[in-house]
Amino acid sequence: MFYYDWTIILLIPGLILSLWAQGRVKSAYSKYSKVFTQRGLPAQDVAGMMLDSQGAGNVTVTSTQGTLTDHFDPATDTLRLSQGVYGSSSVAAVGIAAHEAGHALQKQDGYAPLNLRTVMVPTVNIGSRLAWPIFVAGMIFSWRPLMYAGIGLFALAVLLSLITLPVEFDASRRAKALLADSGYFTQEELTGVNKVLNAAALTYVASFLSALLSLLRLLLLTQRRRR
Ligand SMILES: [Zn+2]
Repeated sequence: MFYYDWTIILLIPGLILSLWAQGRVKSAYSKYSKVFTQRGLPAQDVAGMMLDSQGAGNVTVTSTQGTLTDHFDPATDTLRLSQGVYGSSSVAAVGIAAHEAGHALQKQDGYAPLNLRTVMVPTVNIGSRLAWPIFVAGMIFSWRPLMYAGIGLFALAVLLSLITLPVEFDASRRAKALLADSGYFTQEELTGVNKVLNAAALTYVASFLSALLSLLRLLLLTQRRRR
């Protein structure tokens, strides 16, 4: 649902930051997926070694379709690496695989933000899809409780994207530390990994900022109706 009025201007900074962050991820990925590590270890082996070294050998590492679709599934303890990552020994592939292994290690450690995120995701995803229709219905019928219900649902989505920040930053922190400690990678390769992971982290900051600005916009729309 698209509602046009001046408050739409509020969404522009989030949109610009998101596009910029996505551009940075794409350029970092396309650069470092062509730079290969000297050791030549494929990404899935790097992830496997990281997991084994931390006592998380129960996690299965497998491949999945698509580009940059890499993720850790906490429900099945499966780490799925995308086509460009699985089997590749590039700096980008190693960094991404290590980051996903970082999520698996978070689960093993009982890292609270990850647990909270896992619990919230299914409900919040449904709720955030209903937020706009409910809010707009509230506006149409000039029924404030419905508008606030929409805002409440949207606020939960903002909260989820806030909780995602420490989860993502911590996974990258673990990845960088374990890759450096392994002694398998040169300083130059580790710098490349940092660039790829930092660019990816920025997209989560952009998502949070966009969601926050959308929430602010909804609140402003409610105020306007009051006058
Ligand atoms: Zn992640």
